[in-house]
Amino acid sequence: MKTKEAHCSFCGKKKTEALMLISGLEGHICEFCAEQAFKIVEQELGVESAQETLKEQTSIQEIPSPKSITEYLDQYIIGQSDAKKTMAVAVYNHYKRLQNQHGNNEVELEKSNILLVGETGTGKTLLAKTLAKFLNVPFCIADATVLTEAGYVGEDVESILSRLLQVANYDPKQAERGIIYLDEVDKISRKSDNPSITRDVSGEGVQQGLLKILEGTIAHVAPEGGRKHPDQKYVKIDTSNILFICGGAFEGIEKIIARRINKQQVGFKKDSSRILEAEKDHLLKSISPSDLRAYGLIPEIIGRLPILTTMESLDKVTLRSILTEPKNALIKQYVRLFELDGIKLTVEPEVIDFIVDQAFAYKLGARGLRSICEVIMMDYMYAAPGMKKKSLSISFQDAQEQWKKHRNATLAA
Ligand code: ADP
Repeated sequence: MKTKEAHCSFCGKKKTEALMLISGLEGHICEFCAEQAFKIVEQELGVESAQETLKEQTSIQEIPSPKSITEYLDQYIIGQSDAKKTMAVAVYNHYKRLQNQHGNNEVELEKSNILLVGETGTGKTLLAKTLAKFLNVPFCIADATVLTEAGYVGEDVESILSRLLQVANYDPKQAERGIIYLDEVDKISRKSDNPSITRDVSGEGVQQGLLKILEGTIAHVAPEGGRKHPDQKYVKIDTSNILFICGGAFEGIEKIIARRINKQQVGFKKDSSRILEAEKDHLLKSISPSDLRAYGLIPEIIGRLPILTTMESLDKVTLRSILTEPKNALIKQYVRLFELDGIKLTVEPEVIDFIVDQAFAYKLGARGLRSICEVIMMDYMYAAPGMKKKSLSISFQDAQEQWKKHRNATLAA
């Protein structure tokens, strides 16, 4: 008797026609029907979304505590304890908020975006970047100045979401849980605090666009970023749970703060146009939403950035610590660079003081430390590969000499 050739019990495809035939107790299924069956199950039972939900749920024990976040930040960032604490609590609450979304929770937790105010070079970006290393939600850094240049139409504001989408491997669900650090947010402020005259539309237009995203909207995002054009495919992203940390130098805001304080204190007649460096930090700590409004942020944006924190300016002691203490402190980096050439580098303490003095004099903040180190180290790094001596000690005289020789060329560049 001729045995019947095995075939798919669903579509009837013969074994020879199918790539694969899986046998069951009373029949077979081909690879095509198996795939179809999986899709039906997925649709009917929502297997995928159930899996996603499971993946997203983190138990409260797994959420890093604010203390553990600040301890991590302390390894890389000197000082700035107020800002670190604020960020740590914000991130902790962000995780809790994401967790609270699952299940039937009557109390909906609203997000609290952050505004970080501090001079350039005080570590705002470093804080955001370091945090990013620690977190397991998508995190990206975007620059608000680009938005200003693109015009005030508002659409372009969505390009900051493209970055987040890219970091989230183009998975909108993951992007919707993310955190965005938006740098230089002060650059989109209106140039006058009186909205009726000298309207600076581009600044305000960008702010309006940004507002929607900060508040929570379904944004249509071009995955590749850039400006929108009609043929592009868009991905929908709900921004309600994306946490925004905005940073800005708000140069000169201390004058606005001083003016406000002077007005409040009768008889306190101090010229607010001349503020000593030492007073700046003190004033900045008293910053209030009304100062931001006077600076040119629209009230709605200010309302959407309820957590306001400031960065301290860096004195010489802090600059010195920055140079030597963090896990990847600059001096440690140079020691490692020379080590790779087989050379043991020692930098004398007077050289460290010299670098700090120069950075302070040039008002470059911590940002200047690297340029100054580069100037001093350049000739040594050039000669390192061929050096016979396996140890190198840089003295105060050496540093001074190198500085005199090269500073103009390098710092001017
Ligand atoms: P900002 O964003 O405030 O302008 P950055 O974070 O870009 O400043 O700081 C510039 C550089 O200065 C950083 O890469 C870092 O090396 C150094 N730096 C600034 N502040 C600190 C700090 N508090 N602790 C350690 N390094 C710092």
